[in-house]
Amino acid sequence: MSDQVPEVNNPSSDPSCPPAPGLHPSTRAVRAGLSSDPAFGAVVAPVHLSVSYEFTDPSQPGRYDYGRSGNPTRDLFGQAVADLEGGATGCVTASGMGAITTTVMGLLPANGTLLAPSDCYGGTWRLFEALRRTGRIGRIDYVDFSDTAAALAAIATGPDLVWLETPSNPLLRIADLDQLSRAAHASGALVVADNTFASPILQRPIEHGADVVVHSATKYLNGHSDVIAGVVVSADAERGAELAWWANTLGVPAGAFDSYLALRGLRTLHLRVAAAQRNAAAVAELLAGHPAVRAVHYPGLPQHPQHELAARQMDGFGAIVTFELADASAAHAFAEGLRCFCLAESLGGVESLVSLPATMTHAAMSAEAQQAAGITAGMLRLSLGVEETSDLVADVAAGLDRALSAH
Ligand SMILES: *Cc1c(COP(=O)(O)O)cnc(C)c1O
Repeated sequence: MSDQVPEVNNPSSDPSCPPAPGLHPSTRAVRAGLSSDPAFGAVVAPVHLSVSYEFTDPSQPGRYDYGRSGNPTRDLFGQAVADLEGGATGCVTASGMGAITTTVMGLLPANGTLLAPSDCYGGTWRLFEALRRTGRIGRIDYVDFSDTAAALAAIATGPDLVWLETPSNPLLRIADLDQLSRAAHASGALVVADNTFASPILQRPIEHGADVVVHSATKYLNGHSDVIAGVVVSADAERGAELAWWANTLGVPAGAFDSYLALRGLRTLHLRVAAAQRNAAAVAELLAGHPAVRAVHYPGLPQHPQHELAARQMDGFGAIVTFELADASAAHAFAEGLRCFCLAESLGGVESLVSLPATMTHAAMSAEAQQAAGITAGMLRLSLGVEETSDLVADVAAGLDRALSAH
């Protein structure tokens, strides 16, 4: 295998897989990779499990040579996500963290400086801190990107890379992608946006200036909680090829079968997100009016501090709702006894989940970092699924009554 940066594998430039100009994103997602099988004319693209691909002669590989550096099934999924995000390339990795690792290794110079959200995903925080502790990242500054003035001041100090996560996890804070990307570019930084929470159905950061978008495809893109995968989408094809080179070099590309499942999940992304979001809005409204609830964090509520920005920048407010009860025992009383929510980490599946960030998703964060991020002991995060709205609302209402009597 060559150690040069490879050509970009772009299935949409393959005549057997025509691009679809003028079609809506939902149609493009449903049709991604259909009728691309030259061998049998299969409508659904087959899973290519082969590790090796034949060379036409010893010095001339075909379009594929080895399964880590390229796989047709993986490329179909990557290209479908890139298409929805409005990017040039999509590199599919074995996890969201694989996508984040690839991006940091590929974009951050040696001893470089990183500006990251103070309430970023716990695993991202752990990776960044580990790289800083071991001298691989020179400096990390954390800022609350929903405070645009503070974020602009931090960007003005000249980081190499600005890492955005909007809506943020678990507080659903919103960062102004247009303004922050413009400022970052003016000070010479690249902009990466983790778009896991919104999915390209609700938000396309590249349209707002981001250079690279990362996803945990484990969440909404696959949507069925049975695949761990990630995607790195690059606005620019050349940078995308470099990132694909890094993924191959690090050894993090996703398996063919996971890519197949994720592409299958992607076809219903628009339906799943629409149904889950309706449920989130109904639950957020119930929470906002209930005496057991100290605070609700949902960008769709008019009282959310960045509601206007979210309405401008997103095509919907998403399906994650975070709220705060009096204390940990109230949160436990709520979470234990729910009928329609599993007490589990993760989000973005068809099934509703509840988690306590302090001891579950964000347990890797130090107490000080949790406090800086605004994570409290009585905080709960709901990932709404696609169940019947009235069942979920009744379940949450019963949980809130338990929380009131526990406190
Ligand atoms: C889950 C998640 C990740 C990590 O993805 P994995 O697929 O679990 O490795 C990164 N960012 C966000 C916002 C996430 O929710």
